[in-house]
Amino acid sequence: MQIDHSPVIVWFRRDLRLKDNPALFYAAGLLRPIIPLYIFSKGDPWEMGEASQWWLHHSLLNLQKHLKLVVRKGSSLSVIKELFKETGASEIVFNCLYDAEEEEVLKKFPSKAFHGGVLFPPGSILTKEQKPFKVFTPFWNACLKEKVRDPLPLPRKMTFFSKKIPSLDLTAPKGISFQDWEPGEDKAQAKLVAFVKKRAASYQKDRDFPAIAGGSFLSPYLHFGEISPCQVWDIAHGKNAFLRQIVWREFAIHLLKAFPYITHEPFNPKFKAFPWKKNAKFLKAWQEGMTGYPIVDAGMRQLICMGWMHNRLRMIVGSFLVKDLHISWKEGAAWFWEKLLDADLANNTFGWQWVSGCGTDAAPYFRIFNPTLQGEKFDPEGEYVKKFVPELKLLDKKWIHKPWLAPEDVLAKAGIELGKDYPLPIVDHDQARKEALSYLKEIS
Ligand SMILES: Cc1cc2nc3c(=O)[nH]c(=O)nc-3n(C[C@H](O)[C@H](O)[C@H](O)COP(=O)(O)OP(=O)(O)OC[C@H]3O[C@@H](n4cnc5c(N)ncnc54)[C@H](O)[C@@H]3O)c2cc1C
Repeated sequence: MQIDHSPVIVWFRRDLRLKDNPALFYAAGLLRPIIPLYIFSKGDPWEMGEASQWWLHHSLLNLQKHLKLVVRKGSSLSVIKELFKETGASEIVFNCLYDAEEEEVLKKFPSKAFHGGVLFPPGSILTKEQKPFKVFTPFWNACLKEKVRDPLPLPRKMTFFSKKIPSLDLTAPKGISFQDWEPGEDKAQAKLVAFVKKRAASYQKDRDFPAIAGGSFLSPYLHFGEISPCQVWDIAHGKNAFLRQIVWREFAIHLLKAFPYITHEPFNPKFKAFPWKKNAKFLKAWQEGMTGYPIVDAGMRQLICMGWMHNRLRMIVGSFLVKDLHISWKEGAAWFWEKLLDADLANNTFGWQWVSGCGTDAAPYFRIFNPTLQGEKFDPEGEYVKKFVPELKLLDKKWIHKPWLAPEDVLAKAGIELGKDYPLPIVDHDQARKEALSYLKEIS
């Protein structure tokens, strides 16, 4: 019998890790030379935003320390075709992202695909009628009845293709850097372990308060696959309040696979007729954190300086854009896509449709967040606002979420002239709310 020594290509995409990587593990088990490949895919309709490019760069640098990564740019199909030709490879393996690109690869090349980025393959968790779940809680209950696979170890031995083949140098995106983050598989593991030890027990209580570091901060690591959901499930076993969030991620992925049009169309078709406004001035004020509503502005500024935003804030700023400024959720999703380190097509789409009331299992449109009350409830001391809106740092907590109502002498004492040091509210919330409800009536 002739032994097959032909190389096998491992196509890395958003599975930038060595442990619990089913595609890599499978390839290593073949005992044939491995060609680890990363493609900067041209023509991707969802080209990464600037923040994600920064994360990806550092994540790839990390991976390169352990693998002889071949980096190429171009259309995935032509890069893969070339590499097969150049190296005599006989197979390509990868972990699914459930997109059109991989379907083409599966059709055109000898290939094998794995479900390394999810707890369960999309389409495998279905209702009794064999339909996709559209409501979260029954989906969560159905997931709890299934067994999550155990994470795979590091492959014991990997032999890499030894011939030198062309590979691009990795170049850092210019003019952008995020001090608070350290991408990489080891960092992801350490973050998860520290979270489970120190904060998971109080997660449910703390997770809604942005001044407390109550969450895991794992979202960019999960997005880029520096840690897998199965690893999280294993290490955070029994911490169900937290695991529930991992299942929200799963829910979003399964929904996007079942209803791929939701990236650009509301799940609820009646919202197609919603009279969204085009207002460049308001959109800019929202993007820059200059709306005059401190909690909204703090969230938007956290996004710019950290490349990340607390979940409660994503809901507050999202509601403000859609229900106070009446600007389409798609504008919000596009800004997040550009600025988030964890920008994720499934989660971002799901999150925006949720806040807009047009998604599946969404917050009803008529439930409109009052930004002042949200601020007072979830940032009662104003610590979060003061961190990201420093011009308000001397303002008493009584007025921190409604500076426009503060007496003149209080503002003067805090060194604030409204309209000069900090904006007056760009819209009146009560008025905006009434308008939003009248639009809803129009489409109902
Ligand atoms: C408008 C809007 C847009 C969003 N866009 C994104 C996005 O682009 N990328 C992204 O990863 N998350 C997004 N989310 C979900 C959520 O805000 C973030 O996942 C969370 O804030 C990340 O912080 P963490 O890692 O500390 O989360 P934790 O609270 O520690 O949760 C652990 C993990 O569970 C997942 N998760 C948590 N909450 C959700 C949720 N509501 N939906 C889906 N998955 C969730 C994330 O992978 C997260 O890392 C969005 C939410 C909203 C409302």
